[in-house]
Amino acid sequence: MKLVFATHNPNKTKELEALMPPHITLINLDSIQCFEAIAETAQTLEGNAKIKADYITDHYQIDCFADDTGLEIEALNGAPGVYSARYAGEPQDSIKNMELVLDNLKGITNRKAQFRTVIALNLAGKQYLFAGICKGEIIQTKTGDSGFGYDPIFKPLGSTKTFAQMTLAEKAAISHRGIAVRKLIAFLEKIKAH
Ligand code: IMP
Repeated sequence: MKLVFATHNPNKTKELEALMPPHITLINLDSIQCFEAIAETAQTLEGNAKIKADYITDHYQIDCFADDTGLEIEALNGAPGVYSARYAGEPQDSIKNMELVLDNLKGITNRKAQFRTVIALNLAGKQYLFAGICKGEIIQTKTGDSGFGYDPIFKPLGSTKTFAQMTLAEKAAISHRGIAVRKLIAFLEKIKAH
């Protein structure tokens, strides 16, 4: 089965390709000649995941799925949340985003945070949603150079490493996106069996 993954982020594609069973082939947006940025204008992760999936289905008449992810920090009332990509403003800059998070948490002892991913799947005219949460904490300084986004400042609960110190497989085993994608895969397996 071939399925379009509606993202321009090569890091996300890499993470997902490692999780897909052999019978599911991911198609990236370049392969369907989609080079435009899809505006994420919703106020929720669910809304943005739906916008991205619907954009591809409407413009390219093809089944696909999209994810939207946010870092939700307890002491910042859930910020940056749905605004994670551009927390420090335009243009999108992961280093500036992390520095702003660390600045805003200066002197705050509650470092609890979670990543939340929502996946919207458009399949045969219907839409399905899958979610994944990874709880953890924001550490004091950036550590590690793998991964992307906020990975260097996020340490999952029970781990001694940040996401940026993990291999793809280690991150995927516990990450928000890994959890959501495994739900998506289980759903696709169930459909295939019927
Ligand atoms: P989006 O899902 O592409 O809209 O991601 C929103 C923001 O969260 C971007 O700044 C990403 O870099 C960041 N982000 C998304 N997923 C992850 C992740 O797994 N680790 C760290 N940062 C992430």
